Amino acid sequence: MIADKTKQFDVIIIGSGLAGTLLATVLARHNVKVAVIDKNVHPRFAIGEAMTPDTDLMMTILSHQYSVPEIDHLSSFEKICEHISPSACGLKRSFNFMYHRQGEKQILAETNKTGVEPSSHLFRQKIDLYMVKVALKYGVEVFENTTISDVDINSEGVRVDLKGGDVFTARYIVDASGYNSLLSRKLNLRETPTRFKTQSRSMFTHMKGVKHYDDCLTNGKERDGLRWHQGTLHHLFDGGWMWVIPFNNHDKSDNPICSVGVNFDTRKFPKTEISADREFKDFLAKYPDIAIQFENANPIRNWISTGRLQYSSHSCTGERYYLLPHATGFVDPLYSFGLVNSCTIIIPLAARLMKALSTHDYSIEPFLELEQLQQKLFDYNDNLVNCSYISFANYNLWDAWRRIWILGSFMRQTKAGVSKKLKIAAGKVQELTNFQDDNNLDSLTPSYEGLGDDFFQKATTTVEQVEAGLLSADEATSRLLSLINSIDFLPDDFYQLGDVSRKNIDIASNFVRSEHSRFMSWVKTSQKPEVKKYFDYDVEDLLAAIERTAAMST
Ligand SMILES: Cc1cc2nc3c(=O)[nH]c(=O)nc-3n(C[C@H](O)[C@H](O)[C@H](O)COP(=O)(O)OP(=O)(O)OC[C@H]3O[C@@H](n4cnc5c(N)ncnc54)[C@H](O)[C@@H]3O)c2cc1C
Repeated sequence: MIADKTKQFDVIIIGSGLAGTLLATVLARHNVKVAVIDKNVHPRFAIGEAMTPDTDLMMTILSHQYSVPEIDHLSSFEKICEHISPSACGLKRSFNFMYHRQGEKQILAETNKTGVEPSSHLFRQKIDLYMVKVALKYGVEVFENTTISDVDINSEGVRVDLKGGDVFTARYIVDASGYNSLLSRKLNLRETPTRFKTQSRSMFTHMKGVKHYDDCLTNGKERDGLRWHQGTLHHLFDGGWMWVIPFNNHDKSDNPICSVGVNFDTRKFPKTEISADREFKDFLAKYPDIAIQFENANPIRNWISTGRLQYSSHSCTGERYYLLPHATGFVDPLYSFGLVNSCTIIIPLAARLMKALSTHDYSIEPFLELEQLQQKLFDYNDNLVNCSYISFANYNLWDAWRRIWILGSFMRQTKAGVSKKLKIAAGKVQELTNFQDDNNLDSLTPSYEGLGDDFFQKATTTVEQVEAGLLSADEATSRLLSLINSIDFLPDDFYQLGDVSRKNIDIASNFVRSEHSRFMSWVKTSQKPEVKKYFDYDVEDLLAAIERTAAMST
């Protein structure tokens, strides 16, 4: 190790994408000396634009737990507009799904919307730059346009050799360099072949001239206050799905760009030699009611056409190193699990890292627990997405399967967030900042615990049996709905999730607010131990939050 103090750090992070700068900022806020090294320069294009209520929640927890208010500015549409810029985001008021069949008109009965509290589409060029500036403000040293030529990790420390001859040393290294992860290659961590079941590829770009879908419809406009273009629009078809993520879908925006991506099951749509531009035109020719939206659209950058998207690693940690989720693995953009998984890991990782630095104990046990969580997140993500691709062959099956997704998202948010959100709303933020003691990974682990033995496993197997030809799509649909309707763990008829006549749900509506109140009081009267374990909250916080909200609104 060299003695030049100007190049010694506590932690070196490879990659200045959102994950790298979020972690760097949290650490620097607590006096850790951090270097972030990136081979590129901001502002730069990045993918990973759709936020979700889960991601917003994790950003909020991260921000309050580590006292970095600037991270909370990313946690809602309004906050991004207020603190960063209205042109840095699109509005995501709902997840919108439209089912299409080749050569046929779209049938409005085969659509679904899930309304949420206003979340966002991140225009990553601007958002990533914002987060780099926040990191710099907290004292992170950011080295852009910098090439790492070698990394050496041993029991004494970490040495990073840069092209040009400079050497940086550190006590710990985190890889946040995404798909091309330097450490996964150096340490041979990738699984070949990947264990993931999903088999998809993607082609994506940014476009101008994409129509708002509401303007493409001759009927069915705004039946319920949720507009097609004020959300993340998913066009679904047998063998894949497409995202339409506008940044120009609200009054304050002066950003005309729309992100567009098509994702294909490689077994149904193998990659060929034709250009992405041609492939997109051929694709539109098959789906007339998708084509309408792109009549006047043009790419403003070259298409990126990937091979199979899935990659995974058998391990993501060892003595003195950790690989963040996107460096470890990836499944598919469906349901936007990328950023939420990164934040979910950064929350406990930062505390463990700070403890290791303060005790000079870099043993891997505390990090192995995190590795298990990270792998569980991936496997959950893989099952959810793989079954979605299977279900795209039949609208009714898809409609049933997406209810399993909604349920999982509800369980995850409530488990991870209900007590913390109440503390924040009650103004008791200081009670969240004792992060060194926060070793409870259970609350961050996706699960359907309490819904019956192996609820998610049963649901997954049901759909996989369709793929294996062992079950018809209709039979699988009715089994999924019976599974949902047999849940006795939640209040009766919760969200009306098992009612197929209910195609849309608006989580931000009065109906669902009353469902939330019903849920909160049900938690307190339930005798079930799982309810106490996963969903408990402090009634005093609830009362204080109500009082405080009322006081602020008068
Ligand atoms: C097609 C697609 C669509 C997606 N859509 C979504 C979505 O809608 N929502 C969502 O939440 N997630 C999505 N994701 C996942 C999302 O992109 C990632 O989770 C997210 O970008 C992770 O951020 P990151 O900082 O870990 O990585 P990145 O944003 O990839 O940043 C990695 C950084 O590391 C740098 N780097 C790479 N190699 C090196 C090196 N050797 N040395 C130094 N620096 C290096 C790069 O320049 C880059 O700045 C999508 C992913 C794909 C592939």
